[in-house]
Amino acid sequence: MRILIFGAPGVGKGTQAKILSTKLHIPHISTGDLLRRAVSKKTPLGLKAKELIDNGNLVPDDLMGGIISEELQDPKTREGFILDGFPRTLPQVKILEDIFKSHNIEDYYVIILEVEDDVLVQRLSLRRMCSACGNIINLNYLKDSSKCPSCGSKNTFVKRKDDDETVVRNRLSVFHGLTEPVISHYREYNRVITIDGMLPVEEVTEKIMNHLS
Ligand code: AMP
Repeated sequence: MRILIFGAPGVGKGTQAKILSTKLHIPHISTGDLLRRAVSKKTPLGLKAKELIDNGNLVPDDLMGGIISEELQDPKTREGFILDGFPRTLPQVKILEDIFKSHNIEDYYVIILEVEDDVLVQRLSLRRMCSACGNIINLNYLKDSSKCPSCGSKNTFVKRKDDDETVVRNRLSVFHGLTEPVISHYREYNRVITIDGMLPVEEVTEKIMNHLS
């Protein structure tokens, strides 16, 4: 099964993509995670991307196209994948459509998660990332705020630079300006699942799974 998941920053795309990846046994491809890994390894891509990410701006389409075409050539994506964070601009839609054409991919699901901006700003102020494993958590939903529920590391939570409020506001305006036209494009597609991202995580997953089955 192939899935594209969309929504504004903080809407819960990454969380749902991880859960669906486990449930459906398909790899989760997150362009944000790939870029953050490149930044922390200081690869040439990471060095180019760091400042753009820290300021909430997008990495150029040609660089993103290269990353995604390499990922989709990996044999582990042959049976399916969940794509989180790509495409984010209309030129990226064209890149993806060309890749799909060359791989003879015609069928895929599109999931759109919706949450209001003010709620997202509030959510992202409480979001932390485990510096050991990259897991993203929300302080509101954590029983032990010192321990990562994913890898068990202690006191490893950091706030992502791009979760600072001014950067979040920029990310939201980039989302409305450049990514909403992408979502409008996919709304024409008949396998679109639109879900209220205000619902609890488990309910969002359940609704998505019901639609997919
Ligand atoms: P995310 O973790 O998906 O919120 O992505 C974090 C940051 O990585 C974004 O704010 C962008 O700077 C960059 N990024 C991720 N995906 C893309 C993409 N498809 N196109 C351009 N920049 C991206």
